[in-house]
Amino acid sequence: MENVIILGTGPAGLTAAIYAARAELAPIVLKGDRPGGQVTITDILENYPGFSNGISGFEMYQVFEKQALRFGAQIVTDTAIEVNFKNQPLKIKTREKIYETKTVIIATGSDPRNLNVPGEKEYIGKGVSYCATCDGFFFKGKKVVVVGGGDSAVEEGLFLTRFALSVTIVHRRDRLRANPHLQSRAKANEKVNVIWDSIVTEVVGNQESGVTGVRLKNVKTEEERIFETDGVFVFIGHIPNTQIFKGQIDLDEKGIIITDRRQRTNVPGVFAAGDVQDPIYRQAVTSAGAGCMAAMEAEKFIAEQEGTAYPGKLE
Ligand code: NAP
Repeated sequence: MENVIILGTGPAGLTAAIYAARAELAPIVLKGDRPGGQVTITDILENYPGFSNGISGFEMYQVFEKQALRFGAQIVTDTAIEVNFKNQPLKIKTREKIYETKTVIIATGSDPRNLNVPGEKEYIGKGVSYCATCDGFFFKGKKVVVVGGGDSAVEEGLFLTRFALSVTIVHRRDRLRANPHLQSRAKANEKVNVIWDSIVTEVVGNQESGVTGVRLKNVKTEEERIFETDGVFVFIGHIPNTQIFKGQIDLDEKGIIITDRRQRTNVPGVFAAGDVQDPIYRQAVTSAGAGCMAAMEAEKFIAEQEGTAYPGKLE
């Protein structure tokens, strides 16, 4: 019987691991299919306190993991495929084995949302991408389209200007959602331009060259046209990784885990932290904070069950 199983190794999962390990709970952390999560595909984080010159997402993952290992967290390459939270002990079936545990911290993050238009799936890896850090290099001297108007679209679009000849942001409204600092940087960058009030309705191309263009529809005039491009980078938000928890814990209508202010789900002993339960802030630093809180709550839960809690702690 384990004390705590942590699902996910993004900032939330690894911060939970650091705190749980320091509380001598001997946490087991399952890496899942995308170790490090979304942060690893972020080129540079400039707003995480403590890294005054910024840090690459992948490096941040490595630093967090090293810190968790230093305090004795056990980080395992395995993925949860089924859970049973109906009774204590909580059960987690992975690809390799079945774990029984007193508490679980879910930090499984989210995956990029797709456009769901014809041609998108067909040209993944042949011009369609969801990761500028991973694929930007392949677009040296080429024209790329970035879809979306949030921080990710603008930040990743700016990153792509290092390689691309031009970066055209296609946004469905007439103003960006991205923060003012990013917007000013985009405005000042000669390579960046924006097509407003438009959506991509099709990715076009051929087997030989991959993507050659996108079909755009102006949502105000309904006018359609083909816009020539060599690549399409999609940054239109994320879908939480909660499929295996359906029917086990409460999720909202978007599939995001519902927690209270103490990272507790509706099931005693099951906590959640990071993008998987945060529809608002979704920052590496807020995820890390939530991971810390989840680990402290897990510690408290175990102590209360075992009658070893100090009176008043965390109340
Ligand atoms: P987001 O803020 O949810 O923005 C998604 C963008 O995609 C929005 O502009 C949205 O349009 C558009 N969109 C959504 N569905 C669409 C569709 N089907 N077709 C076309 N466009 C669509 O997502 P995000 O940019 O990935 O950011 C997620 C969170 O991470 C945010 O809280 C953000 O602040 C944070 N983040 C922060 C940084 C940073 O601080 N440096 C960097 C990256 C991300 P509308 O605007 O019309 O809704």
